[in-house]
Amino acid sequence: MKDTELYAALLHLRHPWKVTEVKVDITGGRIDVWIEHAPDTKWLCPECRRSAPLYDHGAEREWRHLDTCDCKTFVHTRPPRVQCKEHGVRQIGPTWADPGSHYTLKFESHVIDTLKECDVMGATRLTGLLWDATWRIVEKAVERGQARKERRIPARLNIDEKSFARRQRYETLVCDQDRGTVEYVVDDRDQSSLEKYYQQFTLEERAEVKAVAMDMWDPYIAATKAFIPEAENKIVFDKFHIVRYVTDAVDKVRRAEAKQLATQGDSSLKGTRHLWLANKDNVPEWRKPEFDAIRKLNLKTGRAWAIKEALRKFWGYSYPARAWAFFKCWYYWATHSKLKPIAEAAKTIMRHLPNVLTYFKHRITNALAEGLNSKIQMVKEMACGFRNREHYRTAIYFHCGGLDLYPRLELGELW
Ligand SMILES: [Zn+2]
Repeated sequence: MKDTELYAALLHLRHPWKVTEVKVDITGGRIDVWIEHAPDTKWLCPECRRSAPLYDHGAEREWRHLDTCDCKTFVHTRPPRVQCKEHGVRQIGPTWADPGSHYTLKFESHVIDTLKECDVMGATRLTGLLWDATWRIVEKAVERGQARKERRIPARLNIDEKSFARRQRYETLVCDQDRGTVEYVVDDRDQSSLEKYYQQFTLEERAEVKAVAMDMWDPYIAATKAFIPEAENKIVFDKFHIVRYVTDAVDKVRRAEAKQLATQGDSSLKGTRHLWLANKDNVPEWRKPEFDAIRKLNLKTGRAWAIKEALRKFWGYSYPARAWAFFKCWYYWATHSKLKPIAEAAKTIMRHLPNVLTYFKHRITNALAEGLNSKIQMVKEMACGFRNREHYRTAIYFHCGGLDLYPRLELGELW
C-alpha cells in the first residue's frame, strides 16, 4: 500500500478528496499530509446552496489531526473558492474543522476527552498544545454545549454558594436536583445573583418549579419569593445547611470552653475540634475510645454536641406532625441548655421552621449540590492555572454542566 493510499484510508477520505503527498519526518516526530479535490468536483455556493463553478484556491492551510504513532500529524490543503452569480467569490469552508480553527474536529474531540481526565496543564503535556490553545478548546466546547442546551428551568432546584479563591468571595450555583448538573454559576451571593438566573425564564416557566432547596440565606429567599410563584410552599431549608449551622454553634461552645479550661491548666479539649465537628458515624475508628472518654467528662461541649446529634433524627420522620412534635421537644432542650450559641441556632431554625417542614412534602436536600460541590472542589484544585473567575465558571460548566461538548461530525463529512 502506498503512503498516500494508507492516509486516504486512515483519514476516511472520500470523493472528491484524495491524498496527493505524505511527508514523514521521524526525527522531528511529524507527518504532513496534503489533500486535493478531484478537478471535476461540483461545488455549491456556501450562502445559497446553488451550484457554482470553481473560481480558484485560497492560500494553503494546515490543521492538526490525531497523531500517527506518536508523530504529530497535520493535514494541508488549499481551500477551493467558487464564484456564485449572486454572492460573488466565496470560500468553501472545510467540513472537517470549525471556521478559523487550526484543528480537525476529530482532534478537538480528542483534546476534550483528555481534558475530562486531567487538568489543563496535564492536557497541554499530553497533546503538546499551549495553555491558551487548550483553554480555547474548553471555551469552545462550553459555548457549543450551551448553544445546544434546551432552554428549561428544572422542576427541583438546588441553590448553593461556593467560595472562590480567598474566602469572602462567593459564587452562586444553581443546580438541577434530578439531573445532578450545575445549570448556572454567577458572581456573589446576593439577591440579584440568583435573580439573574430566574430572569431568563417567563412567569409560566418559573411556575413549573416544584421545590427549591437552599440555605437559610435571606438574599436567596427574597429572590425566590420574588420570582417563583407560591415560593412559600416550595422553599426547603436544607438539612445539611441546618445541621452545619448547629455544628458551628457546637464549635463556638468548644472554643469558649477550651479557653476557660486552659486557664485552669486543663487541656481535655485540646486537639478535639474535628471530633466534635463530625457526625457520630464519621468519627474515625481509632479515635472512638478517646471520643467516648471525653464525652463522659460532662463538658458543655459534650452537651452541645449531643443536642446537635439529636437534631439529625428530625429528618428521619415519615409524618410532618411527628417531626413537628419532635422539633418542639428538641427546641425546648436547646433553648434551655444554657449554651448561648446553641440556643441562638435553635431560635434561627424556629424562625424559619415553616420552610424546614416543607422537607416532608418535597423530600429535597442539597445533598446532590453538596456532591457536586466536591466535584467543583476538585475542579478548583485542578485549576491552579485559572487566572480569573470566568475561567473558573467555564471549568465548572465543562465538568459539571452536563453539556454536550463534542463537535458533531455529520454524515457525509470527511473523517
Ligand atoms: Zn450564492
